[in-house]
Amino acid sequence: MTICQRCGKRPAQYLRVVSGERLCLRCLFNSVEDKVLKTIRRYRLIKPGDYVAVAISGGKDSLVLLYILGKFLQRNLLKDVKIEAFTINEGHPYSCFYRMSKREYVKELASKFGIEYNVYHFKDIFGVTAIELAESLSKRGHEVHMCTIDGVLRRRAMNIIGRRRGWTKIATAHNLDDEAQTVLMNVLMGNLSRLSWYGLYEDAEEKDLIPRIKPLKYIREEEIAIYAYYHGIPLMELECPYVVTNPRYNLKFTLATLEKEMPSVKYNLVSFGEKLSAILRTSMQQESLRRCRYCGATSARDVCRVCELFEKAGLLEHYLEKTRSLSLQS
Ligand SMILES: [Zn+2]
Ligand SMILES: [Zn+2]
Repeated sequence: MTICQRCGKRPAQYLRVVSGERLCLRCLFNSVEDKVLKTIRRYRLIKPGDYVAVAISGGKDSLVLLYILGKFLQRNLLKDVKIEAFTINEGHPYSCFYRMSKREYVKELASKFGIEYNVYHFKDIFGVTAIELAESLSKRGHEVHMCTIDGVLRRRAMNIIGRRRGWTKIATAHNLDDEAQTVLMNVLMGNLSRLSWYGLYEDAEEKDLIPRIKPLKYIREEEIAIYAYYHGIPLMELECPYVVTNPRYNLKFTLATLEKEMPSVKYNLVSFGEKLSAILRTSMQQESLRRCRYCGATSARDVCRVCELFEKAGLLEHYLEKTRSLSLQS
């Protein structure tokens, strides 16, 4: 029996491929939590006075993020910080919201740490669900990938809700694997502009809005899965059916193959992305921010992507009317 190399007491149950370290489960979980706390402190992701909104997709990663942040709150490691957990209901049968059959579980988990949990609906924010928008687009001959619609609208939804609620940070559960995929994807697409915004606060479309933080960005997906399993956090039962047509899906396997030859490839990619973005940010003339011609949101383009989608769907007026009434309320 191999003994854990950290505590030297309990039997080792996990081999960390990158470092070759053998760990018992307790030391693995401690090291995961330590790494998250270090990431938060080192990059000043969360500061006293922050109101952090944790995006819950229903997947295990977001639940682990909520669990760990809740634990930090409880241990008073995040002083003077307020946290809200939230889910966005896109409104199609496979939206993250519906995949998340454990809604009651999330509510319970959040309340255990004294965290408020809310669900916000596309329909209330935009006047249409994602599926209604996709149908209108399709009728006019525009086939837009459901993940694109979800992604573009979700970003905007978070900023609209966040401004109303007073959020200062939005925490998402992107892990090391997700981040490595993002960097590789941008390299493969030759997207230097997106790479220049890569980093801890990046949001290529709406960069001056509520900062996004990714406290799990240096944690391997596999370690999150083990953490979830042993903490009674339910694994996601159903994978999004739209995922297979997403180009990222293949990258996942490509990276897994590369990792066998080069165990540190994911860290290398993320660190490459960070260094490159730092260089690009100082040397590149950043595209100056403009205001969307229609909705006034900040955008690198004349018409923001949200308005572009609604315009193509013939629903621009409908959408603008809806957001105008929303801003009157706030
Ligand atoms: Zn140990
Ligand atoms: Zn717009």
